[in-house]
Amino acid sequence: MNTSTHVNEKIYDLAIIGGGINGVGIAVDAAGRGLSVFLCEQDDLASHTSSASSKLIHGGLRYLEHKEFRLVREALAEREVLLEKAPHVIRPMRFIMPHRPHLRPAWLIRTGLFFYDHLGKRKKLLGSNNVYFKADSPLNAAITQGFEYSDCAVDDARLVVLNAVQAREKGANVVTRTRCISAHRENEFWVVHLESKQQGKYQIKAKALVNAAGPWVAKFIREDLHLKSPYGIRLIQGSHIIVPKLFDGDKAFIMQNDDRRIIFAIPYLDKFTMIGTTDREYSGDPALVQISTEEIDYLLSVSNAHFKKQLKHQDIISTFAGVRPLCDDESDNPSAITRDYTLALSKVQKGEAPLLSVFGGKLTTYRKLAESALLQLKPFFPQMQGKWTAHHSLPGGEQMGTVADLAEKIQQQITDAPDALTNRWASAYGSRIWQIVGAIDSVTELGQNFGHGLFAKEVDYLIDQEWAVLSEDILKRRTKLYLEFEPDQVEGLDEYLVESHKRRSQEIAA
Ligand SMILES: Cc1cc2nc3c(=O)[nH]c(=O)nc-3n(C[C@H](O)[C@H](O)[C@H](O)COP(=O)(O)OP(=O)(O)OC[C@H]3O[C@@H](n4cnc5c(N)ncnc54)[C@H](O)[C@@H]3O)c2cc1C
Repeated sequence: MNTSTHVNEKIYDLAIIGGGINGVGIAVDAAGRGLSVFLCEQDDLASHTSSASSKLIHGGLRYLEHKEFRLVREALAEREVLLEKAPHVIRPMRFIMPHRPHLRPAWLIRTGLFFYDHLGKRKKLLGSNNVYFKADSPLNAAITQGFEYSDCAVDDARLVVLNAVQAREKGANVVTRTRCISAHRENEFWVVHLESKQQGKYQIKAKALVNAAGPWVAKFIREDLHLKSPYGIRLIQGSHIIVPKLFDGDKAFIMQNDDRRIIFAIPYLDKFTMIGTTDREYSGDPALVQISTEEIDYLLSVSNAHFKKQLKHQDIISTFAGVRPLCDDESDNPSAITRDYTLALSKVQKGEAPLLSVFGGKLTTYRKLAESALLQLKPFFPQMQGKWTAHHSLPGGEQMGTVADLAEKIQQQITDAPDALTNRWASAYGSRIWQIVGAIDSVTELGQNFGHGLFAKEVDYLIDQEWAVLSEDILKRRTKLYLEFEPDQVEGLDEYLVESHKRRSQEIAA
């Protein structure tokens, strides 16, 4: 690693810290409005909160109980906007809520669902209805009726990567494995000091700094900028377990627990069910968060109270945990802290460069958050163009039709490709799949086979176009094949990546 600091003379309009959904969302919007944008992510894109979510684009039915009408209205409307922008990584999903009258009366749930159906514009998503369970239901026999409504499921990490790809296509410079170690104001600029795992230390200048560091937002202000944070942050851990398919069909369940919290059981990647989430105060390093035994017991007990199939610890295939960076509203109950976002623009003297910090937020509202961020920055960039993201597809979402249509088209060209592969490709890459497969007509032309339908051509694309470096980037965040890969298959992929990076470095040096 190079240890000397070099100065990059380019002066950007915006330097954005953080490659989670909020950082990349602001980057793509700003770049599309004509601003020059630099974004740094200390690890891989989406490697923290933005890949540890419940993977829902949802209004948040339970937020109605906390009277978060602004947030719910905005989030409900965003479901349709995002579904249109990214029909490959986002899909409509029906949610079944078993009725447990001692927890919430039917009239209360019906009222909530009425608001849910009507608060935001709904074109594609179906409205709510009552459901009655027969003997073949996967639920305990005592649960005989409930309600059904619509929201959407999303591949959270791919949503982040696609926004980063689009930001780059609009001219942004997106760098990963590069930490902002400090920044200070020098007259009308921010001087941003960076440490890259590949390039060593360097610095850039920008006219405005955007702090989208998620769980690190307040620490970054205090420790790296040596300023006072305008808001407190509450770090609230949420964890999930993944088990073999608990029920058939493509509908999810939303279960009410005796503590009045709700837990989802969501069909995941055809073979699995994802169960979560929890809510508990967290005080450690957000990068080290892990599910606890109490959280596992809690999630199993809620599932077992609802489903006929009783789960034990040994049924768990995998777990994941994340930390919600919530704006501190001094609520006693972690579940009740606002999920809405707050943007803090630092007070600036005339001629001083602004700092905009992002507190809180949801995957669902990232696009609206980005629009609000740019509205706040508009006075500093009067030449900035207007809003544009609502009606532009994300990469791969353009001219793809449905996932099923696209999967069929791929199979017409690559006739020996199995359904599982063409479906995975269609829902991960949308119409960008043609950049990976080109004109080939057999899987034998896809290069080295690492197992479970992962071939060299896809891996090369992920390295060249999607910032993938390690096998974890590819298996956990770009493809979600990590649940299937055996250790020796991961080793095979690791070896290929080492060789591939060596070859690329030699080509650059030559
Ligand atoms: C359990 C759980 C379930 C959730 N479920 C949902 C859901 O179903 N639907 C929904 O809409 N929302 C959901 N959310 C909320 C959503 O996931 C978050 O609001 C969102 O991902 C936050 O994104 P972010 O960009 O602010 O933070 P992050 O994704 O954490 O990104 C911040 C990034 O900044 C980087 N960074 C920090 N400091 C530096 C530095 N100095 N230099 C460079 N990089 C730096 C970090 O490495 C990190 O990658 C859930 C959250 C959790 C925890």
